[in-house]
This record gives sequence, structure tokens and C-alpha cells, in this order.
Amino acid sequence: MKYNIATIPGDGIGPEVVHETIKVLEVVAGLTGHTFSYSMLLAGGAALDAAGHPLPEETLQTAMAADAVLLGAVGGPKWDHLEGDLRPERALLGLRKGLGLFANLRPALLFPALKQACPLHPDTAEKGIDIMVVRELTGGLYFGKQERLTDKEGKEFAYDTMMYHEDEIRRITRVAFDLAKGRKGKVTSVDKANILESSRLWRKVVLEEAKAYPEITLDHMYVDNASMQLVKQPQSFDVILTENMFGDILSDEAGMITGSIGMLPSASLREDKRGMYEPVHGSAPDIAGLNKANPLATILSAAMMLRISFKMEETASLIEQAVSQVLESGLRTGDIFTAGEQMTNTREMGLAVVNQLKQLEKKGA
Ligand code: NAD
Repeated sequence: MKYNIATIPGDGIGPEVVHETIKVLEVVAGLTGHTFSYSMLLAGGAALDAAGHPLPEETLQTAMAADAVLLGAVGGPKWDHLEGDLRPERALLGLRKGLGLFANLRPALLFPALKQACPLHPDTAEKGIDIMVVRELTGGLYFGKQERLTDKEGKEFAYDTMMYHEDEIRRITRVAFDLAKGRKGKVTSVDKANILESSRLWRKVVLEEAKAYPEITLDHMYVDNASMQLVKQPQSFDVILTENMFGDILSDEAGMITGSIGMLPSASLREDKRGMYEPVHGSAPDIAGLNKANPLATILSAAMMLRISFKMEETASLIEQAVSQVLESGLRTGDIFTAGEQMTNTREMGLAVVNQLKQLEKKGA
């Protein structure tokens, strides 16, 4: 098969981590016989400099026609003074909207070799963490009507609206349940149904959709309790299904208990499973161009792309295994370094994954 990947290196460390990821994908191509073509596109600050807009029409159109989008990161101090639609980060919103990406998947996996980086009690870290947060990405409080007004006394007030249509809840629920089938078979739907009407509808619709998945265990949890359980007993979660704002907060919390931001991949999907794959981290201007960035979050995002959009489950697992073994060998970029380990850089880390992947394939053959 031939896959066209709309590739957006972006700003700061984006180009460095995407470069290493393409090397890994090229090994995959060699091993599997598939061909990947990379349409190199501008977005964010790089696009502002070259074309005067953070998301040029050509980038959007090419991304929409591609089999998947792979993105590094956008933004940086050079463009911080810009406002509104000219901010580099607007490119992300434009891509999400243009591509109709309504499901945000944020895995929180604690690699055994990184247990020391887990900020939770060592006994909790020892048990391991493997959670998939499924966040609704295009509805709720962030997209509802909002307004800032002035009362008769000249004092300001403002409101935001959390609104969900049952169709929006149904489609994200199906994404979560389908994912749970390939995992431990449990979905925890997180809401605030004791207070919010939109959450009561959320719970009703989730219960209706769950009937089509008798093999999946479903429980419901209020968001305040979920945030506590994430640090108390993260092992109790498999797939967390939640609305936009709750997911924004909980996915960051879940990510942080697994160690470094340099390790966290993500996927944003539409109904036909095409999607955009990107590391959770930003453009890290403090280390940009210094060959210091951890490329593993982007490499793991590419593994998600292979699994979800290209249906290459085995190859995706192989990449994850290669990453895990490289970490086991003691190799660390600065963000995950602790005393006694071997400090490395972006390019060496990428190369280590490439070599490990080749080794694994040889053993399997
Ligand atoms: P950041 O994620 O870029 O950096 C936070 C800290 O984590 C920094 O100290 C950085 O050096 C470190 N870090 C991040 N990724 C790393 C990696 N792969 N390896 C090693 N260390 C890493 O967040 P920030 O500093 O708040 O934002 C910087 C810029 O990135 C801003 O312009 C922001 O708007 C943008 N941003 C973009 C995205 C995106 O493109 N999806 C996401 C978040 C922030």
C-alpha cells in the first residue's frame, strides 16, 4: 500500500522530532513493503514567516486530501506578539475544524524503565499505568455561546455555555468503546451529572450506546472523583471517556503521572479514522535547534497513526516495543534523565529506535 502523510514539522523542536520520526517510518517501509510519501507542509510560525498566515490554504487542502497528518509543534516567542487569527496556534484549530477531528486520544502509559519518573508513590508506579483518555474535541464549553456584558451599574459579567447534542455524544462514545475492545475492556465515562444537565444527557446517551457493547464494562464517575482516582489508583482505569473541558484537564493529569511531556503522543480523529497525530508537547523554544529534544512522543504518535489510520497493528506494537527496549537500555534525553543513566540527544535517540526496530524484526523473522 502507498500512504500519503501530510507532514507538518512546524516550529521550534518540531522539525527535529519529525525528522527522527520519518527515519523510523522509513524503516517500517523497508520492513513491510508499504510506501510512505511525505507532503512537507508549512503551518504555525514557519507559515507566518513564509506566507503571512499560520495555516495557508495549501496546507489545509493537502492535509484534507492526505491519508493522515503528522505534526511536530507550532508557536514560539518570535510570534507571541501576534493576536487572534494570526497566532501560530490557530493553525491547530484550523486543522481540527477543517478535518472534522472530534475525537482526541491521549494515551498515558508508564514505560517500566521510567518508573522513577512517575511522581506518584513508588508502590503505585510499581503496579504500572496504562490509560487511554478519549476526549470529545469539538463541542462543549469551548465551542458553546460565550459573551462578556456590562450590567446597569457598569460592572462586567460573562458566560460560557456547555452544550452537547446527542449525536456528538454517540459518536465519541463509540470511539471509546471500540478502543476498549482492543484493550482491557473497560470504559469509565466521566461527567458531572449531579450538577450539569449536559452531563445527564451525556450519561443517558452513553448508557444507550453501551448496549451495543455487552462485552465492555462501563462505569460512571464524577469528574472531581476521577481527578482524585487518577493519582490514588490509576490502575483502576482503562479507557476514560469524557467531554471537551474535563478531557483537557484530565488528559494532562494522566500524562503527567507517567513522567515527561517528551514521552506523550496523541491522535485526533474523525469518523472514518483519518486523523492528525502529534506529540502533546509544544515547540520547546528553550531547547530548539540544540539536538536536545526527546523525539519519542512524536515517534509514538506515528505508531498510533500506523495502528489507527493504516491498520498496521503489529508494526505499531513493534515500534512501541523498540521504544521500550531503548529506554530499558538506559538511554535518556535530558527530560527523562536521572543519575546513573546514559544521556543522549535527539538524533542518537532516533537512531537507537531505528536500530532496535531492525533488531526486533530480525528476531521475529
Ligand atoms: P512546551 O511543551 O513547548 O515546553 C514545556 C517544557 O517542556 C520546556 O521546558 C521544554 O523544553 C520541555 N519539553 C517539551 N517538549 C520536550 C521534548 N520533546 N523533549 C524535551 N523537553 C521537552 O510548552 P511551552 O513552553 O508552554 O510552549 C512553547 C510554545 O509551544 C508556545 O508557543 C506554545 O504556544 C506552543 N505550544 C504548541 C503546542 C502544539 O503545537 N501542539 C502545544 C503546546 C504549546
